[in-house]
Amino acid sequence: MTPAEDIPWLTDSPWMDAARGANLVGADGSLGTTIFEEMTGLAVRHQAINLGQGFPDEDGPGPIRELAQEAIARGENQYAPGKGILPLREAIAGHQRRFYGIGLDPETQVVVTTGATEAIAAAILAVVRPGDEVVTFEPFYDSYGAMIALAGGVHRTVPLRAPDFQPDPEELAAAFGPRTRLVILNNPHNPCGVVFGTEVLDLIVEQATRHDAVILSDEVYEHLTFDVPHVPIATRPGAFDRTLTVSSAGKTFSFTGWKIGWLSGPAPLVAAARTVKQFLSYSSGTPFQGAVASALNLDDSLYRGFAETLRGKRDLLSDGLRAAGFTVYEPQGTYLVTVDTAPLGFHDAAALARLMPERIGVAAIPLSVFCHDDGARRTASLLRFAFCKREPVLREAVARLGGLSEALGQSSAVSR
Ligand code: PMP
Ligand code: GLN
Repeated sequence: MTPAEDIPWLTDSPWMDAARGANLVGADGSLGTTIFEEMTGLAVRHQAINLGQGFPDEDGPGPIRELAQEAIARGENQYAPGKGILPLREAIAGHQRRFYGIGLDPETQVVVTTGATEAIAAAILAVVRPGDEVVTFEPFYDSYGAMIALAGGVHRTVPLRAPDFQPDPEELAAAFGPRTRLVILNNPHNPCGVVFGTEVLDLIVEQATRHDAVILSDEVYEHLTFDVPHVPIATRPGAFDRTLTVSSAGKTFSFTGWKIGWLSGPAPLVAAARTVKQFLSYSSGTPFQGAVASALNLDDSLYRGFAETLRGKRDLLSDGLRAAGFTVYEPQGTYLVTVDTAPLGFHDAAALARLMPERIGVAAIPLSVFCHDDGARRTASLLRFAFCKREPVLREAVARLGGLSEALGQSSAVSR
């Protein structure tokens, strides 16, 4: 697929900014799809185990699914209110109070969105003007880059380096300046799996306060942490009044296809993002909203059980990847594990990822796609595997990955 060369002006229109912002345009001008779509496409074509795009291979709780089915059968199939049904906004507020002690007014401080993706888009488009600077860590989730560019923002990045993927405080401070309008934090972090501690959160609050910047905190993996607590940045001193917090039912309850997300924060920022949201989708999946409200009200033990199960899967995959010869950066959160392929002699993980589905029947995601140029060089040999799959599937993937060197070790395309 190439940009529409028959319509010359179209190749220089805003959509191309979004594509460039998310690294979808090749050096030769060719246009790709997102890495998630590309790798899932390859996995389907070659019937490979898909440890690329992060989605579970089992649905979330059956009773919650039935609530959505009943809602459809009952006729809850027309537009929901733009900001979401009240029971869901109340459940979101209740969740933030129960887990984090954050008090929210469901009327003015909570909005339901079409996945976290829409919440992120609405927040960025609401506050970023052309020329404004936006700080993120790097690697960064692809939609940040796309939406910053679409808004005309200038993307400043702070590198996260292996093995611990923690930011350097001086580099963090240096990324902020008089034009900084927004800082986007993803905690727990996709793809690095790191959970940021209060020191890092406080540095971000300090810089945001100094430069009067808004904080957008993407916490979609908030309940998927192992042995470390998740601390929302909105709970840190001085943070709440400048922070929009985003989450989603996709990760917490394994319903990625429902696309029910939400954002919360101080009323003026929520009103700004909500105003934009109205013109992105107006309102979000009516029959799913009540079901997600019930899910949010489930007992703490369900949340803990999910993280426990996931920890077993993390260990299974991490051990297998280690045994296969990768350097494994074990995650503290998310359902994603990053490895270095260099110990196996591979130095181009993007090329490797494109060959793996066909050659060994496993799909993964290269980290370089979550980076701009310098970051892409720094992460060239890193690969991300998702472990939100059934245990037998993970075992089979590990067995196949054990044959990686034999299958691809001689290929110059991936070794240098
Ligand atoms: N942020 C991060 C860090 C993600 O990994 C994802 C993918 N789930 C999203 C946002 C998008 O979430 P949703 O599917 O709810 O739009
Ligand atoms: N968030 C998921 C991941 O990081 C997938 C999102 C997507 O396909 N856009 O794998």
